[in-house]
Amino acid sequence: MDVSKEIIEAVMEAGVVGAGGAGFPAHIKLNAKCEVVIANMAECEPLLFTNQALVQHYPDEVLKGLQIAMQATGAKKGIIAIKKKYEACKKALEDKIGNYENIVIHELGDFYPAGDEHVMVKEVLKRAMPMGGIPADVGAVVHNVETLYNIKRAYHDKKPVTQKFVTVAGAVRHPLVVKVPIGLKFAELLDLAGGPTVKNYILVDGGPMMGNEVDASDPVTKTTSALLVIPEGTVPYISRKARVEVLLKRAKAACCQCRICTDMCPRYLLGHSLQPHKIMRTVSYGIPDPETVKNSLLCSECGLCEITCPMGLSPRRINSRLKRLLQEKKIRFPKMNVERERPERETRKYPTKKLVARLGLASFFHQIEYADVKIDAKEVKLMLRQYAGLKLLPLVKEKDQVKAGEMIAKAPEGKPGVSLHASIDGVVASVDETSVVIRKE
Ligand code: SF4
Ligand code: SF4
Repeated sequence: MDVSKEIIEAVMEAGVVGAGGAGFPAHIKLNAKCEVVIANMAECEPLLFTNQALVQHYPDEVLKGLQIAMQATGAKKGIIAIKKKYEACKKALEDKIGNYENIVIHELGDFYPAGDEHVMVKEVLKRAMPMGGIPADVGAVVHNVETLYNIKRAYHDKKPVTQKFVTVAGAVRHPLVVKVPIGLKFAELLDLAGGPTVKNYILVDGGPMMGNEVDASDPVTKTTSALLVIPEGTVPYISRKARVEVLLKRAKAACCQCRICTDMCPRYLLGHSLQPHKIMRTVSYGIPDPETVKNSLLCSECGLCEITCPMGLSPRRINSRLKRLLQEKKIRFPKMNVERERPERETRKYPTKKLVARLGLASFFHQIEYADVKIDAKEVKLMLRQYAGLKLLPLVKEKDQVKAGEMIAKAPEGKPGVSLHASIDGVVASVDETSVVIRKE
């Protein structure tokens, strides 16, 4: 078997998915030929230190993973795109980078959302991805640094993905970054951080801008980058509590068409046809304009429009609802070249510090360190749903004994999913449509 195929198979078998986003299977990206592989080390969501801790402590693994990804895709160059302000991480990489050929570092500015693939490819390669396109359309593949760490472990060490690096932050006693078994309940993560410091809060899986509200009984998944305790009264709390039906009514009553949402939208600034103010107008007044509505498919749901709207409206949530409706009808945005970047883009990049202040989270925005502790999980719940709702087929039944690293579910034949593995030794306590629970004896 040629090396590319060996890598792709090892990565699929080990259950590697994109660790920083929606969980797209990593082996599919490795199957594309490209000129350059970009390691995404922007970590642009405020309060998150997951990737920074990983790179600082495991620079060799990330570099080796990047080298393996270059080998699989035939890329001649690897670029680590890292924010200039992450000095300790940069130093850790610089100390090792000499051992790897054709890998360089590219410094990014400190703005949000630097990690969006369209933004990142533009920043690093000065190439505009087509609207509705992917990085491979301009000769690139982008992987999150934790995905590269997992690719290295899958191919080089023959280890499946059973653990996840997670930041626990916000209103907690002892914020930390920690490596935990996949399937650990969020309640246990909270305990590790000393518990919440406020009475009223929501839990968010991911960053304050794009993360989803979760319950303490939910488990860590392969895409959990953080667990944040977001106090009542802050912008991320308020925006997650608002129902989209109410937001629609508010849009009709209050949108003054100032177009600030459009002027600040990172995708619009790249030259995309997305103009959130027009979508707000169309939806509020029920104007039959399918072309404008279709532009919602270009929205990354970064949330900058919500943060900058002077009327406290949420074009993001409305776009998100429209996207779901269009996707249900199998409507896609056709791949289309971007005309040109808007000249004002450079001056409209939104600084992280300003974002944190606007979110009401400034008091939680400080360096968080990695705690290299061993977690003795008594129970884990491993979710069977993967990218785009694909459901894995369990390979175990109740009362089966399993060992950490053993395959317990796999994708249906011919479907683009990856395998799932036990993250602790134990007995299968339950198997249902959605999950496999393993309990330590
Ligand atoms: S920024 Fe707010 S008020 Fe202005 S056009 Fe956009 S949604 Fe309407
Ligand atoms: S969430 Fe708002 S700012 Fe972000 S891409 Fe969508 S429309 Fe633009």
